[in-house]
Amino acid sequence: MPNADLPSYLSRENVGPWETYLEQVERVAPHLDRALLPWIETLRRPKRSLIVDVPIKLDSGEVAHFEGYRVHHNLSRGPGKGGIRYHPDVTLSEVMALAAWMTIKNAVVQVPYGGAKGGVRVDPKKLSLAELERLTRRYTSELNIVLGPDRDIPAPDINTNEQVMAWIMDTYSINQGRTATGVVTGKPLSLGGSLGRRDATGRGVFITAREAARKLDLPIEGARVAVQGFGNVGEAAARIFADNGAHIVALQDEGGAIHSEAGIDVDAARAHREQAGSLRGFPGADAMSAEAFWRVRCDFLIPAAVENQITEANAGAIRTKVVVEGANGPTTPAADLILQSRGITVVPDVIANAGGVTVSYFEWVQDMASFFWSEVEINQRLDRIMSEAFNGIWAVSQARALPLRTAAFVVGCNRVLEARSLRGLYP
Ligand code: GLU
Repeated sequence: MPNADLPSYLSRENVGPWETYLEQVERVAPHLDRALLPWIETLRRPKRSLIVDVPIKLDSGEVAHFEGYRVHHNLSRGPGKGGIRYHPDVTLSEVMALAAWMTIKNAVVQVPYGGAKGGVRVDPKKLSLAELERLTRRYTSELNIVLGPDRDIPAPDINTNEQVMAWIMDTYSINQGRTATGVVTGKPLSLGGSLGRRDATGRGVFITAREAARKLDLPIEGARVAVQGFGNVGEAAARIFADNGAHIVALQDEGGAIHSEAGIDVDAARAHREQAGSLRGFPGADAMSAEAFWRVRCDFLIPAAVENQITEANAGAIRTKVVVEGANGPTTPAADLILQSRGITVVPDVIANAGGVTVSYFEWVQDMASFFWSEVEINQRLDRIMSEAFNGIWAVSQARALPLRTAAFVVGCNRVLEARSLRGLYP
């Protein structure tokens, strides 16, 4: 379904994440504070992008080279913050988009950070644990010129975890000659990590879905939920939805999609995935095709995998009331317009998945103070920040008749541009 409102270069199916982000900026521009518009160009240009060569010795003794990136999109509101992704398809422009979404996200939940993101173009499943450690340590060393607890603070993203964060912390600390736990978040608990961080993104997805449901008068109890992606975000979101009485009717991971009208037992699905490597063959549900997954009738559809999943090709067939974006950039600009015209509410990534960076902020604050909070305290603070941010965006969307994504961009971009304008231009 091509849309006449869309610039021609965006009506292609495979629009890249950076083009998606630029189109989102175009859509918000007319609604921003007019006094801040002279600064809007700063949103369209990353502040700095670093490309590094990461040579490592393989277990075979041969040397392999990988390309790594770290982008600081905008540092007007504070040091850079955002995850590191290991994936064979990572590109500089993808990392640019992910860094830009961090800028907006951090402003939306008002954590005092700018936006950054990193990535290495590698298939980590093809590396041994020792090779993965050498890759992480060399990449960290190459990034040494931009990292630091008050400069740029990485965190986990796709295919990186607590162990990778521990290696980053250790490598940076050795190079600095002091233990600097606050250089990275998403660390193991025993190294200054935070309670609640592991589930934080999925918990935030649930909190924003619950707030949206209140506005739309939809019950969570008995709601039908479909989740794409069963990693850190998707698994926690599905589990917390199920704990609150929802039925997980469909799940999809890289091994395939599964479906059960009676509801999938999330713990059993996780146990199967841990043992079998994916959801494929899970005995507690029926297998279904990847295309059929998008046609499952549900109340909440949660893309929690990668970018560009809801496109012109499937947006017309989706049968949900609310899309809650657990992933970054899962919906193309063309698909956004289709969902909007069909009356489907989209809770955008920059608020829906902001729970992760919010608890990252709590972790960093705890590291700085060397004083640690209880899990109850963390979850309560997360709930308050996420609910207030969602309700603020909802109010803007109602008052100005804007989709939630544009409303979130109004709130986030105005905050970033206000900081930028107050700081002024040097020299
Ligand atoms: N990678 C996560 C995100 O996309 C977390 C970032 C962080 O905690 O810094 O939001």
